[in-house]
Amino acid sequence: MTLSELLPSLDFGHEEAQFAGVPISHLAARFGTPLYLIDEEEVRSRARAYRAALPDAEVAFASKALCTRSVLRWVAEEGLSLDTCSAGEIAAARSVGFPAERILLHGNAKTPEDLKAALEYGVRRIVLDSLDEIEQLGALAHGRQQVMIRVTPGVQADTHAAITTGTEGQKFGFSLLDGVRDNLAAAVSAVLAQPSLSLVGLHCHIGSQVSRVDRYEEAARRMVDVLAGVRTAYGVTLRELDLGGGHAVPYLPGDTDFDLDGYARRLRVALAYECSTRDFPLPRLTIEPGRAIVGPAGMTVYRVCAVKRGSKTFVAVDGGMSDNPRPSLYGAKYTARLVGRHSRAPRRPMSVVGRHCESGDVLADLLLPDDIHPGDLLAVPCTGAYHHSLASNYNLVGRPPLVGVRDGVATMLVRRETEEDLFARDLG
Ligand SMILES: *Cc1c(COP(=O)(O)O)cnc(C)c1O
Repeated sequence: MTLSELLPSLDFGHEEAQFAGVPISHLAARFGTPLYLIDEEEVRSRARAYRAALPDAEVAFASKALCTRSVLRWVAEEGLSLDTCSAGEIAAARSVGFPAERILLHGNAKTPEDLKAALEYGVRRIVLDSLDEIEQLGALAHGRQQVMIRVTPGVQADTHAAITTGTEGQKFGFSLLDGVRDNLAAAVSAVLAQPSLSLVGLHCHIGSQVSRVDRYEEAARRMVDVLAGVRTAYGVTLRELDLGGGHAVPYLPGDTDFDLDGYARRLRVALAYECSTRDFPLPRLTIEPGRAIVGPAGMTVYRVCAVKRGSKTFVAVDGGMSDNPRPSLYGAKYTARLVGRHSRAPRRPMSVVGRHCESGDVLADLLLPDDIHPGDLLAVPCTGAYHHSLASNYNLVGRPPLVGVRDGVATMLVRRETEEDLFARDLG
């Protein structure tokens, strides 16, 4: 399947490339560049597809992928739950009235402020990540705060090391190995010893941009085994199992989409089988897609500032690692497309680079028309996840606005960062 088939909103076959029914050049003219676009209907339909594929599961949107109030409202309306990992993300959820009973709090280093924000709003589940945290939350919580324990299931996700989170030797979760301090047995004992905490289940998240469904099947098997082990050792039957997110999305033409239906079917079979062989009641399943809900619904539009021809051709645009740090963080690959005009010029290999003072500030290496020139527009698809939320104002460049488009109507959701914003905190 090609990228443009997967992205109905990005119809490159038109006279003029459109985004959710609006010519991209019109959006660039109206809102300026660089510009983040998000297709509201695409976000909603992705949310609905998850709910339809897994009708019995709780689908929690990982808010860190794109945490703006409008997006939180959309996913709340589509019936999703929310995965947060800071007081700030909880505040965003709270500000749109996201139901607290549908929120989870994660994090390997939750601060007292994070924990207090969760307790104050009544966030239903807090996912515990260290023995220190169990003690801290035990002291802060009143009544019976529902908690889950994050487990390191030891499943290789076959993704970049920086986004692999389910194996030994990385910072998240409790180990299944005896002999290390923060292991699962120690965590279960510590939680059961805290009268203010109620252990309801286990959690794991094997990594991000994981395309292999068998890795999730493997995680599900191991986690049921762990649930059964906890029952044997402690006599407690945990009713909830959270298998995290990380489902891959296509960034480049030729990348395959995550097989959501296959995932749903194989998880269901794996869980049913593993539970029945251990005579363990089927747990209530939660999953936490982030990227898969918003990634393909987004696009970034840049204007070309300069084209430098030498031993290599560099197309320098008005954004870069401040609005998309993923290529420099972990070598993420993107494609880009000339929009706003047609070119019959031959295509040559070029490097699309950003405006920042680092030579690693490269957005994409690809073929572009030879006549590309300053003023041209470039659109980069699949930028809805981990772009706006990872943006910085490096070089004191204001962060781009986020514009939502639905049914041909564009609305500014987050305005562009101004110089006034940049100096608002600088008291010098
Ligand atoms: C980041 C994260 C997710 C979402 O990952 P995606 O790749 O965006 O689906 C889900 N759960 C946890 C615990 C995470 O840290």
